[in-house]
Amino acid sequence: MKQQVKTRNLKKKKTKESDILENKKKGLRNRETNVISFIFVALFLLMSGYLVYFNVFKASSIIDNPYNKRIDNLENKVVRGNILAADGQILATTQVDEEGNETRYYPFENVFCHVVGLNSAKTGIEGLANFELLSTSGNIIEELADDLSGEKAVGLDVVTTLVPELQEAAYNAMGNNKGAVIAIEPSTGKVLAMVSKPDYNPNDAAEYYSEWLNYDSSESVLLNRATQGLYSPGSTFKILTALEYIRDNDDYESFSYDCTGSAYVAGGTTIPCYDGTVHGHQNLEMAFANSCNGVFSTIGFKLNLAKFKQTCEDFLFNKNLDIGIESSVSSFSMDENAGISEIQETGIGQGKTMISPMHNLMIISAIANNGVMMKPYFIDRVQTREGSTVSQTEPEERATVCTPTEAAIISEYCRTVVTDGTGYAFRYTSYEVAGKTGTAQYDSSDRVHSWFVGFAPYDDPQIAFCVILEGGYTGVPGAQQIAKSLLDAFFE
Ligand SMILES: [Zn+2]
Repeated sequence: MKQQVKTRNLKKKKTKESDILENKKKGLRNRETNVISFIFVALFLLMSGYLVYFNVFKASSIIDNPYNKRIDNLENKVVRGNILAADGQILATTQVDEEGNETRYYPFENVFCHVVGLNSAKTGIEGLANFELLSTSGNIIEELADDLSGEKAVGLDVVTTLVPELQEAAYNAMGNNKGAVIAIEPSTGKVLAMVSKPDYNPNDAAEYYSEWLNYDSSESVLLNRATQGLYSPGSTFKILTALEYIRDNDDYESFSYDCTGSAYVAGGTTIPCYDGTVHGHQNLEMAFANSCNGVFSTIGFKLNLAKFKQTCEDFLFNKNLDIGIESSVSSFSMDENAGISEIQETGIGQGKTMISPMHNLMIISAIANNGVMMKPYFIDRVQTREGSTVSQTEPEERATVCTPTEAAIISEYCRTVVTDGTGYAFRYTSYEVAGKTGTAQYDSSDRVHSWFVGFAPYDDPQIAFCVILEGGYTGVPGAQQIAKSLLDAFFE
């Protein structure tokens, strides 16, 4: 203390000159301080800028990465939000016991397992909406109160587009068969139902997940066949073969062919019609309705193959579907160098072409929607626990794949499938369906995958759907019956 006083006194005794020197030094020091302050302010602004940028542009993608440690931090602070059906029923919720232990609970058990997904594996909507489910309302006062009290905040709820009545109808109709059922609203892309079999109970994941991982792909319960399964499209592919024929041949209305029950082309393969049926005289519309292989294995020779490949790619073959949840890329490889057998097989949806059920649905849905393919989506809106909307999904066009005129012609052909062709399950229903059947051989046995893609009502499509039933036997009308259960539930 004494020493300090002494120093001050000494300073007071200093001469004027030294005061001037001192002031100069101070000025210099002030300028240094100013420069340093400026740097700090600049750094601060830069960092705030980055934080804004991070929150607005990057946070979602970084937090959605299931391997990011940030998630652990958020999960320590936020109780994961609920996933709700379109009608508000809970599809996934987090239960907290008295000790604060959290369990993710799925009240519908197996019924929504693939589409809702697993929180632990961040699949399905659990993965897609991870950021939203761990985000809070942004109410700073509430968050501060939670921070101070040490209590966890509550994450936002995600309201899906899924309709429980349709999901349950599809789930029950599939029974113990393997395959998938999906339904969307063609004008918006809203996913109404998505079922994949075999399935699992997500509430058992903690115990059995590692066991499920060991199943091979044909038995896998974790695989979402609706989006990840790849199958031969079979006769459903005739939609695109017919469209290309119409595009490449102005005289398509005068197309004529005499079906003898099978088609033989020199240097190619003999391709029989379904069940060896002799279809007789066929125009293009009736050949489509009857799914005549004689016609569709030979009209490939009248197509511009380079353009055909482009048409298929415009319809998203060899492209990522970009639907937000895990999905496989469909493949189409035929080009202008194709050999005779490849042209025959590709025209009827056999050969190397592979497609996912979701992609097949997007194709028929675009036909139902005047040639505009909408982007399928699962989340209608994000809201607080109290129910106020934080964000709302707007329907988005994915691609314009054909003209309204072309869509109208194919729609009419699909209607004839039901009224006069292979779509007999819907001939006497109260609602008018348009669609395309398909059977796809997948090995040397007579077992086939059975497809049905379609939409209804024919003149004002409200629902488009796709059913794939694995490993039925020839002659069993499986996929159509399952589609009928779905539509009965929709129109009841
Ligand atoms: Zn035929």
